Amino acid sequence: MAAVATHADWVRRAGELVPEGRAFVDGAFVAAAGGATFPSVSPRDGRVLAEVAACTPADVDRAVAAARAAFEDGRWRRRPPAERKAVMLRWAELLRARADELALLESLEVGKPITDAVTVDVAGAAGCVQWYGEAIDKLYGEVGPVREGALAVVTREPLGVVGAIVPWNYPLIIAAWKVAPAIATGNSVVLKPAEQSSLSALLLARTAVEAGLPPGVLNVVPGLGPVAGEALARHPGVDALAFTGSGETGAHLLSCSAASNAKPVELELGGKSAHVVLADCPDLDAAAEAVAWGIFYNAGQTCNAGSRLVVERPIAAELVERVVAIARGIVPGDPLDPATRLGALVSAEHLATVDGWVRRAESDGAVVACGGAPVEVVPGGAYYPPTVLTGVTNDQPVARHEVFGPVLAVIEADDPAHALAIANDSPYGLAGAVWTADLATAHWMARELRVGTVWVNTFDATDVSLPFGGFGASGHGRDKSLHALHACTRPKTTWIEHGRPAVAAAGDPGRTP
Ligand code: NAD
Repeated sequence: MAAVATHADWVRRAGELVPEGRAFVDGAFVAAAGGATFPSVSPRDGRVLAEVAACTPADVDRAVAAARAAFEDGRWRRRPPAERKAVMLRWAELLRARADELALLESLEVGKPITDAVTVDVAGAAGCVQWYGEAIDKLYGEVGPVREGALAVVTREPLGVVGAIVPWNYPLIIAAWKVAPAIATGNSVVLKPAEQSSLSALLLARTAVEAGLPPGVLNVVPGLGPVAGEALARHPGVDALAFTGSGETGAHLLSCSAASNAKPVELELGGKSAHVVLADCPDLDAAAEAVAWGIFYNAGQTCNAGSRLVVERPIAAELVERVVAIARGIVPGDPLDPATRLGALVSAEHLATVDGWVRRAESDGAVVACGGAPVEVVPGGAYYPPTVLTGVTNDQPVARHEVFGPVLAVIEADDPAHALAIANDSPYGLAGAVWTADLATAHWMARELRVGTVWVNTFDATDVSLPFGGFGASGHGRDKSLHALHACTRPKTTWIEHGRPAVAAAGDPGRTP
């Protein structure tokens, strides 16, 4: 068995890394037209990791043309399902074989702990590719219940060229959520990673081609959102857009679609999830642990983070005391230290934004129970400690906007109905949780919470087999599960008029003897 890598091992490997930053088009790495680049800066220490291709509309044209050619000549979609499955399973295995390199890129680019990058991000991306690969030869069409003399079948057809635009908080996992179902169903994809996290997406695509995915089926155009992303969103040769990111960008993409070819746009947007803990909570220690990690995991940069703790008043002080004790024990550390559980925020700019939200909350009357100011871990890095704000009311900006940092807003409720009203009083509707010992209360709350995922007596339990997405300002798309296949395919009806009734007339040569 390979020796477990130490902090020193990861630091050494990080120093040896020479990441590829060029675009990936038609199965090869290419510089952006005109050679423009932008730096990928690590929030771990402010170091430049690589110069990344700053793709322009000309590069997007090239990538869309490659994707279109691959789709039209059928080099992938016409291959038998079992063959496509084998390629995707090989791709998943290669991702696992490359886990250290992918995890390092992920950890260095966005500051997440290396242990999480290996066990959650790379493992999750590989698992997703495998899951959709395994699904390929298990997808059936339908036969319509039509009259005799005809056969009507409904097949699911790929859309053509899918543009995928993804954020930086889970670069590999979210790229896999978009790309794997689209490719499994025979589409070609042009992926635009976030400017903060291009490197693992590029390696993801190269690994796919190494596994046998034909060139042109998966292309990656790194670059700035308003340039490369916008060109993709407005491209008339893109048949559909799959987006995960902020509500502002999502809304803008709808206008890009309207101004181009009215392509469908799947939106997975932000969240402000309520973590409701009722007075009859069956296990306050377990709830405290879940509340803490529900917001502090990935430094709070998670769309479904439980950023609002809605707690019934009689247990509020006791629960907050336990959450604060856990928070104080989560000390920000070097992302490359395998013992670190809270790494860096994605950038110095984002750190300033998060700190600004905390200062704003204070001026609105909130009390900083712990954390609340940047800390130095690795010089030049962007580190913020777990922060708990008490005395928040649900109308304050910190309770209504995504902070996207390790900041928990504690809101007290009078009773379960009040807690539910607070939870639902949000423009977002991505996820929510309730802790209660009462089965009827659990069912009632689960039904009434207007969110895409509800957890009862747990938080963030997840599986690739289950759909993930939101209501309201959290968007309408669904990643993961077989439901995700709907966004990358359309039903096609084929009516075959054969004219022969099921029970044939006497003398009909087709009659069953
Ligand atoms: P963002 O909207 O700023 O960027 C997302 C992507 O859009 C990036 O690739 C960016 O380059 C691109 N983009 C920006 N401007 C564009 C434009 N004019 N045209 C085309 N593309 C453009 O979001 P972010 O800061 O990268 O990510 C954080 C957001 O993502 C948060 O709101 C978070 O909640 C959300 N998110 C949602 C989910 C989900 O599944 N619902 C998952 C993860 C993150």
